Amino acid sequence: SFPAEAVPQAPEDALFGLMRAYRADESKDKVDLGIGAYRDDNAKPWVLPVVKKADEILRNDPDLNHEYLPIAGLAPFTSKSIELILGSDSPALAEKRTASVQTISGTGAVHLGALFLARFYKVAGANRTVYLPNPTWANHNQIFGNVGLPIATYPYFDKQTRGLAFDGMVQALRDAPERSIILLHPCAHNPTGVDPTQEQWRAIAAVMKEKKHFPFFDCAYQGFASGDLDRDAAAVRYFVEQGFELVIAQSFAKNFGLYGERAGCFHFAASPGPDAGGVAARVASQLAILQRSEISNPPIYGAKIAATVLNDPALYAEWKENLREMSGRIISMRKALRAKLEELGTPGTWNHITDQIGMFSFTGLSEAQVKRLQEEFHIYMTKNGRISMAGLNTRNVEYVAKAIDKVVR
Ligand code: PMP
Repeated sequence: SFPAEAVPQAPEDALFGLMRAYRADESKDKVDLGIGAYRDDNAKPWVLPVVKKADEILRNDPDLNHEYLPIAGLAPFTSKSIELILGSDSPALAEKRTASVQTISGTGAVHLGALFLARFYKVAGANRTVYLPNPTWANHNQIFGNVGLPIATYPYFDKQTRGLAFDGMVQALRDAPERSIILLHPCAHNPTGVDPTQEQWRAIAAVMKEKKHFPFFDCAYQGFASGDLDRDAAAVRYFVEQGFELVIAQSFAKNFGLYGERAGCFHFAASPGPDAGGVAARVASQLAILQRSEISNPPIYGAKIAATVLNDPALYAEWKENLREMSGRIISMRKALRAKLEELGTPGTWNHITDQIGMFSFTGLSEAQVKRLQEEFHIYMTKNGRISMAGLNTRNVEYVAKAIDKVVR
């Protein structure tokens, strides 16, 4: 029999625990810098205007129904999604050597990829270890651990410079056994906000090619980081150009603001070669089997919204505008926070706030300082000192800067 009494209590998820503490705080000054979701200048969730339009279109469609999607998801969504990340002129698309499956947002895509690798990444001489950046999105550890793949890390963040630990990273990739699985964030690295430069990406790709490593891109912020969809996809496109066989987990949570709708995709691209199309087709067939047993078929509504936008040139152009508005507001908050801290003469250097990109900034605040910010100033952030830039706005940025100044001194 199953002794359920022996099941131990699990700790609460740290991030969701933080959100709960924030909600329970009754202070009128409270600031949420923990949440990984975009907020407008009034600290409110923002439904992208283009998403509102797509929603209207769908709701007014007399043929709208709630039928099941196919196992691989909504084709007009997955086909445009892969064009979005690889570029519509990608040789991998022209040569039909890709496979795409709609997933439960980015988390589901990482999971499906992990499950697929756990099942099939067994070639002779292949190292099944997944190398994650240190630090990384905390869920990576659980997702890859859950499917039984061994996990290792490579250096990513340099505490001294608060930038990329480039030399350590490249050395670790060199030292890893051949054909290791390397997880990469193509843009807006979570939690650090630190990305390699184009030149650094080229060096990373060169070592990975030499060591025959397998790239696993986790792309949760395309277009949201720089405001430019192509620029944020440059790393992935470079690896494809270099002929890598690779996979991509793609989330539309942030760039479409479709968080709870769970819209995402998992993509596979084969290396060029005479059987590349066959490889992609076989991979697609196995992904379908895995998907069927996991979720049967993915959720429909968010995918329909994204597909409506991605397949309509006018709406697509409007989406780009919306992306620029979100990334622009975040960049302006970076500038404002840095300027206020420098104005106050807060000890330390603060250029990393504007050097970092995307949703998050790794402030360098210690766990003790984070605790004081929460207890004395009602400012909530994860204990590693990561702040969500989207939680800042024109009304609270000065309050936050002053509080940081007090706890740093
Ligand atoms: N990967 C990374 C690096 C992320 O930051 C996130 C969002 N926090 C995800 C994946 C997945 O998010 P979602 O499942 O909401 O798309």
